[in-house]
Formats: sequence, structure tokens, C-alpha cells
Amino acid sequence: MVLFEEALEIILQDVRRMGSERVPFEEALFRVLAEDIHSDVDMPPFDKAAMDGYACRRQDLHRPMQVLEVIAAGDTPGHAIGEGQCSKIMTGAMVPDGADTVIMVEHTVEEQPGFIRFTAGNTTPNIAYQAEDVKTGQRVWQKGMQILPQHIAILAAVGATRPLVARKPRVGILSTGDELVEPGHQPGPGKIRNSNGFQLHAQVLAAHAEPHYMGIVPDDEEATRQAIARALDENEVVLLTGGVSAGDYDFVPKIMRQCGVEILFQKVAVKPGRPTVFGRSSSSAIFGLPGNPVSSFINFETFVKPLLYAMMGAGYSPLEMRLPMGVDFRRKKGDRLEFLPVSIDNKGQVIPVQYHGSAHIHAICLAHALMIIPKGTFEISKGELTHVRPF
Ligand code: AMP
Ligand code: MG
Repeated sequence: MVLFEEALEIILQDVRRMGSERVPFEEALFRVLAEDIHSDVDMPPFDKAAMDGYACRRQDLHRPMQVLEVIAAGDTPGHAIGEGQCSKIMTGAMVPDGADTVIMVEHTVEEQPGFIRFTAGNTTPNIAYQAEDVKTGQRVWQKGMQILPQHIAILAAVGATRPLVARKPRVGILSTGDELVEPGHQPGPGKIRNSNGFQLHAQVLAAHAEPHYMGIVPDDEEATRQAIARALDENEVVLLTGGVSAGDYDFVPKIMRQCGVEILFQKVAVKPGRPTVFGRSSSSAIFGLPGNPVSSFINFETFVKPLLYAMMGAGYSPLEMRLPMGVDFRRKKGDRLEFLPVSIDNKGQVIPVQYHGSAHIHAICLAHALMIIPKGTFEISKGELTHVRPF
């Protein structure tokens, strides 16, 4: 049995990194950058009016100023500003030479045709200066970053229209168990629908990798061997659920070995997920996750997701917060680190969700986060700060 931290360290050791590919930047959302991005322009590219108003010289604010022209956004100014002169200017337009201030149109009156006067007491310059945000050649984004909607704007602004991103790991998903039927079928006596397979499929999608559902595998050694061999052959990561505990038909670890997998751990001191198997073949990483859907969900979050991100070269660290317990919490055993589904109320307090055990998939749907209960902790009192990890 390994500790949770040791298991994670083993998973993240010798990670096989994905290659990279160029994609149109509009399609790069949630991909992981495989190159640094540099700007080929200054931002702003010129001294830019930040207000609609008049570009002028600060020393002329006390006197009437002659209006030379109107400068719209996208225009280049026709005149430099001299003593006692100004030009009407629109937000985003180039500030003409000689001007050091843009006064707001609301702070002016037309004194006589062609002349305006500043009516306020004082003003800021209202100019966004050339390169104050980014200089040409500057690195604007770093390799390993995941591209979010706000980053798409940066890619657009610097002309990085085909960024180099990490390829997505191909993840094969197998559900083992004679009790399973596909969701489109009515389960007969003793049977249940395969919910794990599709939950994992969705979790892989949400982790921005590429899931491949490979079906239900009966609890039969030869069928399991064939399914695992094929899954290892076709995928960079294989996720199997069920068949890893101590039942008569839990022969998944044995079959993995027969398929050339080196098993790196088979039991972890964590709840849920004690019977989690992890190994590697010459080409792929493989997880045997517990069959219970809540366990499978949580163990994907805690074990699989970090690996997928590491394969894509992303610096993934889950957001962890310390929030106050909303109720007194107590558990009977403290021999394992535990991830408990919790909700967070509108006062920011942590409330464990009603949870009948690891087959209770509704519980996880009511949860916002996992509370991390350290090994050796039996009680957390109301008001005490506790670690939570939103998902
Ligand atoms: P196992 O790990 O195979 O012993 O399964 C543990 C429990 O999880 C059993 O109650 C199974 O019926 C249930 N289970 C296993 N696989 C799935 C699945 N794909 N979808 C939903 N429940 C499952
Ligand atoms: Mg089973």
C-alpha cells in the first residue's frame, strides 16, 4: 500500500509527453501551448486617445484653442499640434504630434466657430501610450499555459493565428463487469447500466483530452485480456473500471501483467480509491479504477487528470482553498487521506453532501468540491478551516 502522495508521484514520474501540432487559434481553446508566444507589435501600437475629445497641449488649457481637424479611429493625423491649437479626436485614434493631453469632449465648449475652450479644473492625459502594455518581441504567453477565452484575444492581437499546442492524449475507456448493460438497454435481473464508462468519457472531455469508449468487458479472463491488449495498442492512456478489488472476478491486475504492463502500485491509502491500480506498458499508462461511480469520479480527479495534463506539458495544480466547516464533522476511521464530496453554501461554509456510499452518484451531483481530510484527522469542528478542492 502506498500513500496518496507517493501514488501521485509515481504517476507523474517518467510521463510520456505528447508531441505537438499547429491549430487555427480559433480552435485552440483549452489546448496547452507548446511554444512561447511573442508579440510582433507594440501594444498599443501608437499613442492612442483614451477618450473622445480634443488632443492639445497641456500649457494651452487656460486659453481658447483652434480646432485643426477631426481624427477618427483608424485615421492618421494630418497636422501636428502647435501653440493654441487642437484637433478633435475619437477614442482609439492616433494622438497627433505635439499633443500631450486629450481633454474630454464633456469638458469643452465651442467659444466661436472653430475654437473650443477647456471648462474643467484639471485633467489626466487620457492617452494610452505606445507599448505601455507590451513591447514588440516581448513574450506574452508561456509554453505550458492552457489557452482560455481571454488568451484567445492575446493570440489574435499578436497575430499568432496558428499556435503550436500539445496533442491530446488518446484515452481508451473500458468498463468491466458481467452486471453491466449499455445505457440504452433496460437492465434485467441483477444487472445495472454502465454509468462509469460515460462519466469517464465526459471527464476526459472536460480535461480536454480525447476519449474513446471501448465498451463493456465481461468478467472473463480471455475477453479481458483481448480488451486490455487492444486498448493498450490503440491509446496512450487506458482507463478501466471495476475488477480491481478482492472479488472472485477481480483479475484485472493479473491480466494487465500478462499484457506487458508493469504494475507500479495496486493499493493506495486513500478513500475512496484504495484498490486503484496503476501501471505502464511500453507505450501506454493504464489505470484500474474502482467500479463504484463515485470512487471512479473522484479518482479520475485525483489521479488521472494530473497525468493527462502532465502529458500535455501543462503545469496543472488544482485550486485548493481553506474554508470554514459549516457543521461539526466526525469520521470513525482516520487511517487514510479522504476526499469527501462537499457543497459550499452562500456563506462560503463547507457542508458534506448526503452520501450513502460510493455507488451513490447523486451525491456527487450536489457537490461543488472535494474536502481533503488528512490521515489521522477524525474531527473537524464547525467554524474550523478545512481544505477543499473545487471541481
Ligand atoms: P467492482 O470494482 O467490479 O467490484 O465493482 C464495484 C461496484 O461498482 C459494484 O457494485 C459494481 O456493480 C459497480 N460498478 C462496476 N462497474 C460499474 C459501471 N461501469 N457503472 C456503474 N457501476 C459499476
Ligand atoms: Mg466487477
